[in-house]
Amino acid sequence: MKDFKCTCGQRVFFDNSECLNCGRLLRFDPERQDMVALIREADGVLVSASGERFHDCRNHIEYQSCNWVLPAGDRHRYCRSCRLNKIVPHLERPGNVRHWAKLESAKRHLMYTLMQLGLPVQGRHEAPKIGLQFAFLEDSRSNANVRESYVATGHAMGLITLNLAEADDAYRERIRQQLGEYYRTLLGHFRHESGHYYYDLLVRGTAWEQEVIEVFGNPHVDYQQALKSHYKQGGNPNWQGTHISAYACSHPLEDWAETWAHYLHMWDTLDTARAFGSAPVVATDSVDELVQSWVELTVVLNALNRSMGLPDAYPFVLTDSVIAKLRVIHRVIAAASQ
Ligand SMILES: [Zn+2]
Ligand SMILES: [Zn+2]
Ligand SMILES: [Zn+2]
Repeated sequence: MKDFKCTCGQRVFFDNSECLNCGRLLRFDPERQDMVALIREADGVLVSASGERFHDCRNHIEYQSCNWVLPAGDRHRYCRSCRLNKIVPHLERPGNVRHWAKLESAKRHLMYTLMQLGLPVQGRHEAPKIGLQFAFLEDSRSNANVRESYVATGHAMGLITLNLAEADDAYRERIRQQLGEYYRTLLGHFRHESGHYYYDLLVRGTAWEQEVIEVFGNPHVDYQQALKSHYKQGGNPNWQGTHISAYACSHPLEDWAETWAHYLHMWDTLDTARAFGSAPVVATDSVDELVQSWVELTVVLNALNRSMGLPDAYPFVLTDSVIAKLRVIHRVIAAASQ
């Protein structure tokens, strides 16, 4: 992610909504993919130093849960990110706005990376059959007033569902430990599920499908059965040589989604490191240079965390088999890039 600056020169961040140095309002303009410093005029319109005019997303006005803007004349009430929501949780319940806002923040981060990669990000209003949608739901495990007993995070036909409870740090950490996962974050969930979405959009039934099957395996293996046996048997104990995570072993489509999420982790973290002068600029068409640069960066990342007494920021190993999968994903993304 970029090293954003306010008009006054102050360093600002993607989620900021006000500059602590000069007091200007800060918003993200998805059209330019940049933060913009704004002053609110008497009629409520937000104006930049160069005279561009914007209006706030409805979710900022009602809940302060969004910092993206729309051009002043845009008829939409919601920004490009919030417009993709099909279902949001019951926001009158205490704590739900805070948890939902964390989901929205992670979703905007995902969208930023997808846009930077040049991937198509279309909602149902633009692409009725293949557009992307989100549903953020609760189940009775975290809210006794909800009838649904189990909401699983997942993707089906362009709809990405996340359980609101995942935004509760204590809940998410408990599940992470139960499942023996090394890494479980909201951004990771969004990136993983976007992998399933883009598999359907860019791979399934296309010229890529055969090559992807050769590297990841046959996606027609019974999905429910594969997941059931993964959880029953505790997964393949020898996954490290061939897969990026234990869960990636459960099914070829999960392997694709896990590796896709990993590619996005690498791409975005390297982009941030470069923006702050902490990683070299490498040829974007070369996976080998990307991987080399990434390995060097993660050695430093882990050393920094250990100095702070924290667990490794990057508890993964990239084997040749995983790099071969990353290479295919890199090529699929490059071909789809607009
Ligand atoms: Zn400022
Ligand atoms: Zn919004
Ligand atoms: Zn999945």
